[in-house]
Amino acid sequence: MADPKGFLTTGREVAKTRPVGERVKDWNEVYVPGSLLPIISKQAGRCMDCGIPFCHNGCPLGNLIPEWNDYAYREDWQAASERLHATNNFPEFTGRLCPAPCESACVLGINQPAVTIKNVEVSIIDKAWDTGDVRPQAPERLSGKTVAVIGSGPAGLAAAQQLTRAGHTVAVYERADRIGGLLRYGIPEFKMEKVHINRRIEQMRAEGTKFRTEVEIGRDIDAAKLRKRYDAVVIAAGATVSRDLPVPGRELNGIHFAMEYLPLSNKVQEGDFVTPPITAEGKHVVVIGGGDTGADCVGTAHRQGAASVTQLEIMPRPGDERNPGQPWPTFPMLYKVTSAHEEGGERVYSVSTTHFEGDEDGNVQSLHLTEVEFIDGKLTPKPGTERAIPAQLVTLAMGFTGTDQANGLVQQFGLELDERGNVARDADFATNVDGVFVAGDAGRGQSLIVWAIAEGRSAARGVDRYLTGASDLPAPIRPTDRALTV
Ligand SMILES: Cc1cc2nc3c(=O)[nH]c(=O)nc-3n(C[C@H](O)[C@H](O)[C@H](O)COP(=O)(O)OP(=O)(O)OC[C@H]3O[C@@H](n4cnc5c(N)ncnc54)[C@H](O)[C@@H]3O)c2cc1C
Ligand code: SF4
Repeated sequence: MADPKGFLTTGREVAKTRPVGERVKDWNEVYVPGSLLPIISKQAGRCMDCGIPFCHNGCPLGNLIPEWNDYAYREDWQAASERLHATNNFPEFTGRLCPAPCESACVLGINQPAVTIKNVEVSIIDKAWDTGDVRPQAPERLSGKTVAVIGSGPAGLAAAQQLTRAGHTVAVYERADRIGGLLRYGIPEFKMEKVHINRRIEQMRAEGTKFRTEVEIGRDIDAAKLRKRYDAVVIAAGATVSRDLPVPGRELNGIHFAMEYLPLSNKVQEGDFVTPPITAEGKHVVVIGGGDTGADCVGTAHRQGAASVTQLEIMPRPGDERNPGQPWPTFPMLYKVTSAHEEGGERVYSVSTTHFEGDEDGNVQSLHLTEVEFIDGKLTPKPGTERAIPAQLVTLAMGFTGTDQANGLVQQFGLELDERGNVARDADFATNVDGVFVAGDAGRGQSLIVWAIAEGRSAARGVDRYLTGASDLPAPIRPTDRALTV
C-alpha cells in the first residue's frame, strides 16, 4: 500500500492549467509543463490499495492502478512504468485523453474526491520517456507469419505493436498522409501534442512494424487481394462516417462536419498550411452537438479568433451530481467543464435546429432553433420558442454512424455487419471471414481511446491464436464487455 494515511492527510490536487488568456494564443497543451511531478507522489499516496480495486473494472484495459500508485508514491518510476505498460501500450494517450472511468469507480470516490489516477498515469509515462525507459522491444524470433492492419488509430497501433512483439511481420495501412487516426486528425493539439504519437511510431518502427500511408484498402488495394497477400488481417478502420443534419439550408456554404473542420486545423500545426482553409476567424460560430467532438470545435474556434462561439445540445443539461440511476461505481453522465469550455463561449441545452438561412452568395448567416422538451418520452418542440442566432460557421458534431463503406472495404471482404451497422465479430474479435479480425470503433462504434487500445490488444491475441494455435498475449476484454464504463 502506498501511504496508509494518505487519503486522510492529502487532498485531491489535479494538473494545473495555463491561464486562459495565454493558452488561447497558442496550440500547446493546456497544462502547465512540469507542474504535476512535484505533487504526484503524494497524490498517488491517497490510493487505499483496496482489497477489491473497483478501478480495475472501471478501466477497460484493466490497468493495475494500485500497483503503479504504490511505485509512484515511492518514486520508483522504472517499476511504475513497467507495471503501466503491462496492460497499456500507450499510456501517454490515455493519460491525456481518457475520461477516466477508473476515477468514477475509485472506492475513495464514495465519500471523498477520487484518486487522480489519470494524472498519475501520465506522470509515470512522461517520466519514463524523459529518462529513456521507453525502449523498442523487438521480438527475439520471427514467426514467418504476416499480418496487415487497416487503420492507424489507437486500435490499429495497439494490435500492430502486440503482434510485432509476438514475432509476426506486421504492416499498417493508413489512407491518410500521416499515422495516428483520430489521435492525429481530429483531436486538437491543445489536448495532446502530436510529438507523443511521433515518438511511439519511432519505437514501433524500431521494433519492426512497417507503416504504409496514403493507401486506402478497398480503393488503392483490393481488400480480397490484401487477404491473399497476408496470413491475417485486422480491420481497425474506425467509425468515421459523420451523422448529418438534413434540415433546410444544410447545403449553404460554411456548414461543415466537425471532421471536415478539425483535421484542417491539425494540418496547420503539422505545417501543411499557414492558415486553415476553413477558419473561425472573425465569425459567429455555432457548434451543433454537446459532446467531446463539439468541445474540440469550441477550443479550436477560440484559438482561430472567433467573434463568438455557441454550442448547442438537444438533450437537457446533465446534473452536477450522480443521479440515482447511475450510482457509484458506474460512469455517470455529469455536467462537464472541459478546458475548451473554460475558455469561453455559450452552451445552450434542450434546443433543436429547424433550419439555416444564408445571404445571396449562399453563405450561411443564421441558424434557427426551437427549444425542446420530453413529452411521453419523445423530444418535442416547445411552441413559441423559435429564434434565430447569428452563424457564419457551423460545425456538425452529432456523432458517427459507422465505418466507411464507400471505399468497398466491407463489400470486398464480404463482411457481415451487426444490427448497429458495425463490423460483426465473435469473442476472439474474428469477423465472419476466415483470418479477418476487427478492433476499435470499426466493430464497437465510435467510442473511446482506452476501448480502442483494449480491443487492439484483445484482437491481437485472437490473431496470434489463429496463426500459431496458442498465444501468450493478454486479452483484456471481450467484444461484449462494457465493464462499469461508458
Ligand atoms: C474530434 C474527436 C475527439 C475525440 N476525443 C476523444 C478524447 O478526448 N478521448 C477519448 O477517449 N476518445 C476521443 N474520441 C474518440 C476516439 O478518438 C476514438 O474512439 C478512437 O480514435 C478510435 O480508434 P480506432 O483506432 O478504432 O479508429 P480511428 O482513430 O478512427 O482510426 C481509424 C483509421 O483508419 C483509417 N482508415 C479507414 N478506412 C481505411 C481504409 N479503407 N484503408 C486505410 N485506412 C483506413 C482512417 O483514416 C483512420 O486513420 C474523439 C473522437 C473525435 C472524432
Ligand atoms: S486508461 Fe483511462 S480508465 Fe484506464 S487507468 Fe488510465 S485514465 Fe483510468
